[in-house]
Amino acid sequence: MERFQMLKTFRFGGIHPDPSKEYSKGKPIERLPLPKKLLIPMSMSTGAPAKILVDVGGSVAKGQLIGEKSGFISANVHSPADGTVKAIRNITLPAGNVCPALEIETSDEQTDPFSEKCDDTFVQGLSREDLVTIIEKSGIVGMGGAAFPANVKYNIKEGVKVEYLLINACECEPFLTCDCRLLIERREEAISGIRILKRLFGNPDTRLCTETNKRSEAESLITGVKDGSFALEVLKTKYPQGDEKSIINAVTGREVPSGKLPLDVGCVVVNLGTAIAVHEAVCYGKPLYERVVAVTGNGIREPKNLLCPVGASVRDVLDYCGGLTDKADRIISGGPMMGFSFYDLDTPIAKATSGILVMEKIAPKKEYPCISCGRCAAACPMRLVPTRMYKFIMNERVSDAIGINLLDCRECGCCEYSCPSGIPLVQGFKMGKKIWRMKK
Ligand code: SF4
Ligand code: SF4
Repeated sequence: MERFQMLKTFRFGGIHPDPSKEYSKGKPIERLPLPKKLLIPMSMSTGAPAKILVDVGGSVAKGQLIGEKSGFISANVHSPADGTVKAIRNITLPAGNVCPALEIETSDEQTDPFSEKCDDTFVQGLSREDLVTIIEKSGIVGMGGAAFPANVKYNIKEGVKVEYLLINACECEPFLTCDCRLLIERREEAISGIRILKRLFGNPDTRLCTETNKRSEAESLITGVKDGSFALEVLKTKYPQGDEKSIINAVTGREVPSGKLPLDVGCVVVNLGTAIAVHEAVCYGKPLYERVVAVTGNGIREPKNLLCPVGASVRDVLDYCGGLTDKADRIISGGPMMGFSFYDLDTPIAKATSGILVMEKIAPKKEYPCISCGRCAAACPMRLVPTRMYKFIMNERVSDAIGINLLDCRECGCCEYSCPSGIPLVQGFKMGKKIWRMKK
């Protein structure tokens, strides 16, 4: 009977794009063979880039700290392999920002320093502060796409109560499948990570959240969790269900007000991959230097889910997946709704690279004038009025767009997807925000 109950979802807006998970959903996680060269960006999180700690010509060990966080919002960077530093140079990341990067030539022989699990009693004895320190030292960032340093988000002020911990395995972006594979293949690690986080946040009501199209995978994971430490929450498949504010609204009915954070309504949302990274850091002392990447779409010969070291190039990954099809046209970092196009195949995989999507050519959308149909506003999960914001920005009235909450825009793309006139709304919002920040 339970399955016929009304499914929970966020209250306002949203869209139903084709999930397109079939390309890579059934592909078990494989490890990408270690490339001979890695290019490690010092900026893989929100905030300031890490400060380089090694010199050209020096040797590095797997897991060694090679970049030290350089501000309150910044994250440590570790070497994914044993090797030698060959060069230090600036690179341009897919989002357009330039940052320093270390070029490492990997050694033929590799060590395995993080294979030994520490004693359970040691883990149980760690205080909340100890856990946050381990997470900070391990360079863990949000792996669902935001790349916000985890220790900053998890360092809750004394007296602030977390009522809900929501583990986010919604993976609502079409095509992406890494969280789906983690549900299937990393069960023990996920359960351990969720329990550690629950303790860190003071034992809140904890839910593993996913969408109906991953119900069976999530049900298998939770089978055997008999202590009631967390429950399963299967939500309606609707984009952007995995957005922090959307998932909070769907599960708790609470709304995060404009300009506020999930914690302001007693909630913390953590991506499933991040929870597994926390388990590895706490139980194995392993810093975050590799992640699962879905390589998918109709333009790649052999779609896969690959465990990639940070710093492997997009070219290495595509080659291992059999290369591009003859009709391949666009290569995107992330999913089709919120991703960025790669313009250089030497771009490295970063801590928040959840997918490489290769698409065949599609006819470009022709742009027509706005017909004031209101579909963009109906689709917006943030209850914004996209058409008005866009017109303000195009008429050089960015402060008026700010006045109707441009800064609340999540750049989810629901408005643009729904627009019959093919207006590039999200591009306009990104530009408007950039102009506003430059003026400030
Ligand atoms: S991109 Fe911004 S304006 Fe458009 S639907 Fe998403 S949140 Fe709303
Ligand atoms: S959906 Fe497009 S055409 Fe319709 S009101 Fe919004 S911007 Fe205008």
